[in-house]
Amino acid sequence: MIQTRPAGANWSGNHRYRAAETLLPADLDELATAISDAGSVRVQATRHTFNDVGDTDGALVSLERMPVAIDVAAEHVRVEGLVTFAQLAPVLEAEGRALHNLGSLPHISVAGATATGTHGSGVLNGNLSSAVTAVEIMDATGAIERFDRAHAWFPAAALSLGALGVVTAVELRTEPTYLVTAQVYTGISWEAIAGDPDRVLSCARSVSVFTTWGDPDDDLVWVKASDGDESDAVLRGLGGEPLRGPLHLGRIRTVNNTTALGTAGPWHTRLPHFRADALPSDGDEIQSEYFVPLASAREALTAVRAIAPSFTDQLLVSELRTVASDDLWLSPAFERDVLAVHFTWRNDTPGVREALPRVEAALAPFDVRPHWGKAFTLSGSDVRATLPRADDFSAVVRAADPDGVFRNAFLERTLGL
Ligand SMILES: Cc1cc2nc3c(=O)[nH]c(=O)nc-3n(C[C@H](O)[C@H](O)[C@H](O)COP(=O)(O)OP(=O)(O)OC[C@H]3O[C@@H](n4cnc5c(N)ncnc54)[C@H](O)[C@@H]3O)c2cc1C
Repeated sequence: MIQTRPAGANWSGNHRYRAAETLLPADLDELATAISDAGSVRVQATRHTFNDVGDTDGALVSLERMPVAIDVAAEHVRVEGLVTFAQLAPVLEAEGRALHNLGSLPHISVAGATATGTHGSGVLNGNLSSAVTAVEIMDATGAIERFDRAHAWFPAAALSLGALGVVTAVELRTEPTYLVTAQVYTGISWEAIAGDPDRVLSCARSVSVFTTWGDPDDDLVWVKASDGDESDAVLRGLGGEPLRGPLHLGRIRTVNNTTALGTAGPWHTRLPHFRADALPSDGDEIQSEYFVPLASAREALTAVRAIAPSFTDQLLVSELRTVASDDLWLSPAFERDVLAVHFTWRNDTPGVREALPRVEAALAPFDVRPHWGKAFTLSGSDVRATLPRADDFSAVVRAADPDGVFRNAFLERTLGL
């Protein structure tokens, strides 16, 4: 008998799962049984999404009771089961290895993050899906297939939204471990940031700009620098100074939960904003994020700033990051370097749903793509219009899952699946 628990809600509580229960298979045989018994299945991982991408009217499955494995090989690591970056990073570090980047928090699952194109920042850093070298996926018949870069379906399987089946293992590219020094700068004017976004966003290995689109006291630049980065000189040259006093991200008060500033430390202790041993962000929030070509950054920022008074009541903070281009068919950075324009909103669904179309209209001239795991109201046809390989992705999904066992309302709405 497969164990169950209540399905509950996502991390921030803005989405209550439609399924009443989550199935908790204990091994691959039970996982295959759970899939074959259900007409429709989605995986619930660490639940850090803000929409119904991971929901279903059928059965929810979690891998949380299944065995976990982390195998570090020469230049890659294979993780099996429900593994978070917080679990993975220290194991890699102990072997002298590292990932190229991390998102703002390490509490998320490797499978869930890579399934949705989760990213950190850095003009040379692709999103976390771009580090995938292979995935192993259980299909509706219970068979497991490995998709590596040589497989024709790899560009769909590495960032799949869970539409091909249950990802049982992920392999990621690694590199030798490295040190990072983080610093937060204040005093850089919006004109200096938006006038030449490339100058600020490319001054270090990873750069995040925080803003509330008006109050200069909320404009911060958080850099994560490698040896040789010239961020300190560049940002001081723009009037910046290292933060003195407590760190506030717009209207989010950090409470001894952020990573260290001013000293060098291993990559995984500096690249996320939030520490693995602390609760991240605000919690009582909804997030959205939009991706536009980096080449249009200046115009896109000007367009959002012009309409900001229409949404700032709902806003806790915005963050601007960069993601390097990749070749994954559903990636927000598919074949283009992008500026990521992020919004952390108050946890007020009606208010956020009013604000989103205004932001989306402002960014529409820039061929805007949404973050798959965050709130958006763009129509499916608008989303597909910006992704030249969306139809190829859908063809792979139909071939891999002919009965639509892993499809849901989100995939139907956004991809017409
Ligand atoms: C506080 C906070 C900070 C965040 N910071 C960032 C950030 O810095 N950058 C960024 O890009 N995003 C960020 N996000 C968004 C988040 O990282 C993504 O939405 C990510 O998808 C969450 O993964 P999850 O496993 O927690 O979510 P889940 O909702 O559990 O899973 C995500 C999706 O993947 C599918 N999935 C998960 N596991 C499997 C599997 N084994 N097989 C098949 N399908 C699977 C699920 O069905 C779902 O569709 C943040 C979210 C929060 C709450």
